[in-house]
Amino acid sequence: MADNRVVEGRMVTPKKLAERIEGDSIMDAEGIEDANFDCPDCGENVLAVGYMPSVTSFYTGYKCQECPWSDIEE
Ligand SMILES: [Zn+2]
Repeated sequence: MADNRVVEGRMVTPKKLAERIEGDSIMDAEGIEDANFDCPDCGENVLAVGYMPSVTSFYTGYKCQECPWSDIEE
């Protein structure tokens, strides 16, 4: 399981990455993985992180490593 990864030139932990995608603080995050698609905006690598915004929900967040593109799968 990969831990910290570089996103837009800065090292982030899974929790930091998930909070950035969510735009708010979150409860917990799993490890960062590579998503199986490239960024629709710039074509660079996209990272995926599973996280819990609250006790009862689990989302998968996607974030491009090179540009501001992100998405959330609920
Ligand atoms: Zn991108």
